[in-house]
Amino acid sequence: MTFTTRFAPSPTGPLHLGHAYSALLAQDMAQATSGQLLLRIEDTDVTRCRLKWEQQIYDDLDWLGLRWQHPVRRQSEHLDHYDQSLITLAEQGVIYPCSCSRSDIRAALSAPQEGASLPVGIYPGTCRHRSLNSRQTGDALRLNMARALQQLKPIRFTERGPQHAGEHQLAPSRMIAEIGDAVLARKENGTVSYAMAAVVDDADQQITHVIRGEDLYQITFLQVVLQALLNLPTPTYHHHILIRDETGKRLAKRDDARAISRFRDEGVTPQGIRNLIGLGKSG
Ligand SMILES: [Zn+2]
Repeated sequence: MTFTTRFAPSPTGPLHLGHAYSALLAQDMAQATSGQLLLRIEDTDVTRCRLKWEQQIYDDLDWLGLRWQHPVRRQSEHLDHYDQSLITLAEQGVIYPCSCSRSDIRAALSAPQEGASLPVGIYPGTCRHRSLNSRQTGDALRLNMARALQQLKPIRFTERGPQHAGEHQLAPSRMIAEIGDAVLARKENGTVSYAMAAVVDDADQQITHVIRGEDLYQITFLQVVLQALLNLPTPTYHHHILIRDETGKRLAKRDDARAISRFRDEGVTPQGIRNLIGLGKSG
């Protein structure tokens, strides 16, 4: 299979040096193997995504020297695929509706639990008994992790990035304790979670190698469970280092000073950007 990777920004603000690193690394790796780089616009969050930022993404990437296939995949044009995947999971009995607010979850976590206490951020399972037909407008959908794992053979994935390189086998007890019943469809606007949408997109785009930031390493474990449940192939993963500012903080979209467009306006060249982020000469 042809090496196929993707760069998948959300149009919620200007691209910064961290995005440049991810996109250029993906392009370099694709070129080194005569593979291809696809672009994907992750625009399911209608409250935060803007067309002007999408246009800015195309301008910035073009200026950096990236080339990609057309048409570009935009998540907002594939919402039916995500719904179909939720239906597939519903048929397997591994999702349930959840009406808990953040403060409900906090309260449940601080209350005395039977057995070991759950780490912060792990859903305590308050709504796990609910059936899907009790779903009301505004309910999220969660994965019943324990039940999902019972239905699956042992699963593993390959990581090629610098921090966690190797074969990773998923341990069910750790999946339940450290990831738990993840949200797959958000309550706010009924759209699917990042983890779910990316899994469906990667399969639709026949991605063989996912190249993305180290901050998304943990979510890979959830994603390979979803791939197994949906009978989709698991790509090879490569989580790269994050570009940080002088104080060691990772860059954020609101961090305008690191915006690619800002450097461009100041006369920095695309090669200058490569030098700034330690990528050297392009292939
Ligand atoms: Zn709940």
